[in-house]
Amino acid sequence: MQPGELISSDRGARQVQPVDLPRAWAVLEQVMDPEVPVVSVVDLGIVRDLTWEAGHLHLVVTPTYSGCPATEVIEGDIRQALEGAGFAAPRLERRLTPAWSTDWITEQGRERLRAYGIAPPEGSGSKRSLLGGEPPQVCCPLCGSAHTELLSQFGSTACKALYRCRDCLEPFDYFKCL
Ligand SMILES: [Zn+2]
Repeated sequence: MQPGELISSDRGARQVQPVDLPRAWAVLEQVMDPEVPVVSVVDLGIVRDLTWEAGHLHLVVTPTYSGCPATEVIEGDIRQALEGAGFAAPRLERRLTPAWSTDWITEQGRERLRAYGIAPPEGSGSKRSLLGGEPPQVCCPLCGSAHTELLSQFGSTACKALYRCRDCLEPFDYFKCL
């Protein structure tokens, strides 16, 4: 032990201050989507609000797909990460309206999806797919070609579709627009 070093039992006792909010965001940036482990909950845009109320963190979380089994896992991961960083008993509020949209995925999140080999959602919102219009132009995340074809509406999870690139011939997942 060094003088001034925190003993582990002290960590939970320290009061959270509003000034700690940036640190809480930094912790959340390390909490990854269990299905796509390169994008964080911040990249996905599911943490809608983070405030400090009466000595506790208060988070508003909107699940990506309601009924998606990953939701419980994500909320558990968020809680665990914050508690591990010394934020005692964070309060999570699940908000379903407005519904999450792929528009909320940050630019950094889209870059990370592409780097992982998943084509990020194209265009904005779901209006187009609801109206049954033209399918989106999906570019190959591996070579960038726009020469792609839909193989299956369902990829590795229900949230993704399976495409194949006609140029490099690689199959890849496309993150569906919502
Ligand atoms: Zn390609």
